[in-house]
Amino acid sequence: MRTYLHPRLQSFGTTIFAEMSQLATATGSINLGQGFPDTDGPDVVKQAALDAIAEGRGNQYPPGPGIPELRRAITNHQRAYYGISLDVDTQVLVTCGATEAIAAALLALLGPGDECILLEPFYDSYPAAVAMAGATVVPVTLPGPDFQIDADALRAAITARTKVIVVNSPHNPTGTVFNAASQAAICALAIEHDLVVLSDEAYEHLTFDGVTHVPMSTLPGMAERTITVGSAGKSLSFTGWKVGWATGSPALVSAVRTAKQFLTYVASGPFQYAVAVGLDTLEPSYFAELASSLAGKRDRLSEGLRSCGLTVLKPQGTYFVIADISALTDMDGLTFCRALPERCRVVAIPTSVFYSDSSHGRSYVRFAFCKRDDVIDEAVARLAALRA
Ligand code: GLN
Repeated sequence: MRTYLHPRLQSFGTTIFAEMSQLATATGSINLGQGFPDTDGPDVVKQAALDAIAEGRGNQYPPGPGIPELRRAITNHQRAYYGISLDVDTQVLVTCGATEAIAAALLALLGPGDECILLEPFYDSYPAAVAMAGATVVPVTLPGPDFQIDADALRAAITARTKVIVVNSPHNPTGTVFNAASQAAICALAIEHDLVVLSDEAYEHLTFDGVTHVPMSTLPGMAERTITVGSAGKSLSFTGWKVGWATGSPALVSAVRTAKQFLTYVASGPFQYAVAVGLDTLEPSYFAELASSLAGKRDRLSEGLRSCGLTVLKPQGTYFVIADISALTDMDGLTFCRALPERCRVVAIPTSVFYSDSSHGRSYVRFAFCKRDDVIDEAVARLAALRA
């Protein structure tokens, strides 16, 4: 078949999430691959979306930067949780999910000849967005099993062409929350080399065991060089609504907005009203309960995976857990995950797809635990066949 896809995108193919979710549907498997909760967010937020549609709010194009109600709610959220002060008109941009915020930021900041540092394993949309910008990915490996920053490796990766470092904490796929030393290493190098930090904080509310999320922009010298990305999909459990946001200095947000205008222009009108209601009315206890419920699910699935003979790493955040399959099989993670639906009727994601060199992370597989307890139990029961 003739290939029309430009060479800069030819290594991307179909996303692993699409491939694995399709496989889950085709085989009747439990989908612990793609990260989405199987329980929707709060009814009050759902009702707000229905009301907005019925009352004709957001059914036509919302304003380019996002509706003022939501920009105000995001501003209040950043102040209430982190003490961050933002101007509603110049420092907040509503996007079509966190993924668009990331793509728009990278398209706005990078071009041919520029280098962008990605900490691997990395979420798959980052290298794709860097490629779309025509820039070059420079991977820096986060060494397991704790996946914190290797400051020497990060320093060695920076060149005169480096413009942006993408940081993601809580981290998908490992569940690591960067500690103070990791954050300090990133800040020192970003300031020394005048880099922009694109900080994907989509999992900001999903941290466990007393570990707290510290936004990169709150660290000294970082507010003016950090673009922070948030996600209603992750924080409010409405991944299908595609509401995210980027915040930062007026200069950075203006750059991201310029690119964003020509991607989706605007999105999710009525859902923007609903997310504003969610951020305005949900108490801190809502997020605390979401996190503690997820911590319980993490333990439930981890225990189950261990009972099936897998070695499990303990995530401090997100809704993903990494399991090492090497005690069970010589297969690499991709082969294992492609065979798993047929074998056990369960779907998971091979971690190797989150590396620039797919020989890395070969024995790691990512399972999502944002599922009902009975679904987790059924998945574990099916995975017991692995022992046989
Ligand atoms: N962020 C989610 C994950 O990592 C969903 C990704 C997607 O489907 N593009 O699973």
